[in-house]
Amino acid sequence: MAEGSRPTQVADNVVVTIDYTLTVDGEVLDSSEEEGPLEYLQGYQNIIPGLERELAGMKVGGSKNVTVAPEDGYGVLDQEAIMDVPLSEFPEEVPLEEGFELEVTDKDGDIMLAKIVEMGETTVKLDTNHPLAGKTLHFEVKVVDLRPATDEEQTHGHVHSEDHPH
Ligand code: ZN
Repeated sequence: MAEGSRPTQVADNVVVTIDYTLTVDGEVLDSSEEEGPLEYLQGYQNIIPGLERELAGMKVGGSKNVTVAPEDGYGVLDQEAIMDVPLSEFPEEVPLEEGFELEVTDKDGDIMLAKIVEMGETTVKLDTNHPLAGKTLHFEVKVVDLRPATDEEQTHGHVHSEDHPH
C-alpha cells in the first residue's frame, strides 16, 4: 500500500485502531489496557452506533470522551424481554438461583443469554435483555492507527487480522 494513500481521518472504509476505556455507572467494564487496542472497520456497525458516529473525522493521536445514550448503545430496556418461564421447562442440572446466567433458545432458534432475576413458586423470571441495555455508556477513546480497508474487508464488512483472517 502506497504511503500517500493512508487515511488522514476516521471515515467509512477505514480500518481504525483505538485505545478505549468503557465506564458504566462509575465502574470500568472494559478497557484496551487489558484487551489490547481494538481494531474495527468504520461504517459497518462493527461497534455501537453512538461511538462510531463520534469517531468519524478523528485523526491519529486524537482523543475524546464520548457519552452514549442507551438508544445509541445496547438499546433501551425491553420489558417484553423479561419473561416468566415455568419451572418445569428447566433441565434439572440448571442451578436455579437469582443472578445465574444461562443460554436459552427463542422461538426462532436463536440462542440468547438470559439471567435469572427472580425465583417464583412455579416460575422463573428471566431477563434476556443485553446486560448493558438501558445503560448510558461513557467511553474514553484515542485513535491509535488508521489504514485503508482491503477490498475483501469491505466486501465482508469486517477487519481481517492474524487472529481473524476471514
Ligand atoms: Zn472476512
